[in-house]
Amino acid sequence: MQPIIRDASKQMPQEGRRNPNSENARFRSLSAAISFGFFSQTALEEVQSVGGNYQFVRERMNNRQSEFPKPSPGNLRRLKELLDKSDNHTCADCGAPDPKWASANIGVFICLKCCGVHRSLGTHISKVLSVTLDDWSDEELDAMIEVGGNSSANAIYEACLPKGFVKPNPESPHEERRNFIRSKYVLQEFLKSGLRISSAGSSLCSSHSGKILNSSHGTSSKTVGMVEYIGLLKVKVIQARELVVMDMKSSDPYVVATIGEQKAQTTVVKSNLNPVWNEELMLSVPQDFGTLKLQLFDQDMLSSDDAMGEAEVDIHPMVTAATAIGDPTMFADMQIGKWLQSGDNALMKDSTVNIIDGKVKQEVSLKLQNVVSGELELELEWLPLVQ
Ligand SMILES: [Zn+2]
Repeated sequence: MQPIIRDASKQMPQEGRRNPNSENARFRSLSAAISFGFFSQTALEEVQSVGGNYQFVRERMNNRQSEFPKPSPGNLRRLKELLDKSDNHTCADCGAPDPKWASANIGVFICLKCCGVHRSLGTHISKVLSVTLDDWSDEELDAMIEVGGNSSANAIYEACLPKGFVKPNPESPHEERRNFIRSKYVLQEFLKSGLRISSAGSSLCSSHSGKILNSSHGTSSKTVGMVEYIGLLKVKVIQARELVVMDMKSSDPYVVATIGEQKAQTTVVKSNLNPVWNEELMLSVPQDFGTLKLQLFDQDMLSSDDAMGEAEVDIHPMVTAATAIGDPTMFADMQIGKWLQSGDNALMKDSTVNIIDGKVKQEVSLKLQNVVSGELELELEWLPLVQ
């Protein structure tokens, strides 16, 4: 079922004859597909032959966690110019106005609600970045600009939308939105025919897509109902201490943060029981949010990763305080809330919620649970909705 580009070179010329700007379109299509990782050697050579260096871009993007130089002012201007194009004034997936988010590897601008779904797909499918809050690497900007914005991307990913298909709108319920986004980017049900292989060798994308659409919708996963997001939580994973030895002498730890259906994870620090990450993870917070769950794992090349402890953070004190004060930039630095250490939680000491430089922040020191030893240090920041 997973579409794989097997021999794009044999199918591309047909596309090319129809399109006066074929070389460019061909390059864009392939670069977008390659950002998914669905490509063959032939497709890769194709890209290289049309002058792209997408292998390089892709590798760099996959290693995004390693330190990149900050984007150059020229590139930021190019991102702004791209955003100013009229097709990027609405979300690529649901049409909501003024999208503030982007999937840097897919090359689309999206709204906050769709951003939540993209994030839940995992960064191997969609690398979500805020247009205004995140630092973009030059490579991410280059990839984004290369795709050319929402119209160009949708010309690829929605090329074969079945006749009469209705896309989600800004008010669509979460499940409808999620099903569409999964169909569009994960299952690639509507992808341009030249970029996918039909099992029957058919090039009629409407009938082909229809078939896939039916079968995949038949196995559609559980209903989650409508999810409204109330804000964003920036989880800065600072460091861990005194972690347990999982391998021969050490461990290769990484942290997974979860709220509701959303997960984000840090990079793996090799052979280190006192790893320092200083990495920021972003999670959308749904209206009926539960706890923020942190889990540590030891990356194991030979078998599944081993658990190295976990801890839960009650974010209610922060969300309640932040909601009560409204715009934090109107206030001087001060304490606005507190989560108290007790025998029932993983806190090592009381954790205060503060306004610092106009931002709502909370430092959290946790004792890892379900493990012999280990501590985890975080800094949380609450970002209210900007749209
Ligand atoms: Zn949207």
